Amino acid sequence: MWRSRVCRHLAYLGPPTTLSALVLDAPHGLLRQSYAPADMRGGGTVNADGFGAGWYPGPGADAVRYRSAGPIWSDVSFAALAAVTSSTAVLAAVRSATTGMPVTVTAAAPFAEGRWLFSHNGVVRGWPGSVAGLAAALPVVDLLTLDAPTDSALLWALVRHRLWAGDDPADVLAATVTAVEAAAPGSRLNLLLTDGATVWATAHDHALSYRVDADSVLVASEPTDDHPRWTGVPDRHLVVARPGRPPFLTTTGVR
Ligand code: GLN
Repeated sequence: MWRSRVCRHLAYLGPPTTLSALVLDAPHGLLRQSYAPADMRGGGTVNADGFGAGWYPGPGADAVRYRSAGPIWSDVSFAALAAVTSSTAVLAAVRSATTGMPVTVTAAAPFAEGRWLFSHNGVVRGWPGSVAGLAAALPVVDLLTLDAPTDSALLWALVRHRLWAGDDPADVLAATVTAVEAAAPGSRLNLLLTDGATVWATAHDHALSYRVDADSVLVASEPTDDHPRWTGVPDRHLVVARPGRPPFLTTTGVR
């Protein structure tokens, strides 16, 4: 029996902000969501199987990450680092491992490559058999260098492959959701991607909200505070968000 436990994730763009402010101190930030999520839609309740935060150390720099296989609330090293680390873009996640998947640091999001940071919130049904065909279409080297033998790591490999091919990130996420849902019906596929300037995210059978202001963007599994500007993303939709612009919302094409 597969438990559909679901992690939480968030992405931020805007003026330099500490990791603490975003992840640890917000009234309903990832720290609180990790042990008391408000909207799990029938999923698990505690995200104790690891966490990660990715950010950009300077203009034009590639992303760097801090990840752990343990619970976010017990990591004093992260708390100290997060208090003094600021960035104009952050992607962070807390993990509740799907049954049968390893609890290991390399399975914790964000997955990263160059400027890209990626997270998956959900589960691929029938893993691994259901998506073996999709995996088989990837270059062998991509499979040999998977971050971890998990559904989320394979989703990242599929997304990364298309990004490398130069495809538009919105098309990449929509196509990935479409292909995985076709191969593994009933999957929960909230994908979150940033390059440090734009956030792309899908809502597919799990909660997602965004808040866009003149100079900042937050996209998160759950609103991280009670600001009135938070808006829910309808299910089966993709959002593209940048500071100071109306967010672009479209369906993923999957019904
Ligand atoms: N299925 C993924 C994993 O085990 C994501 C977990 C989740 O969203 N709960 O890593």
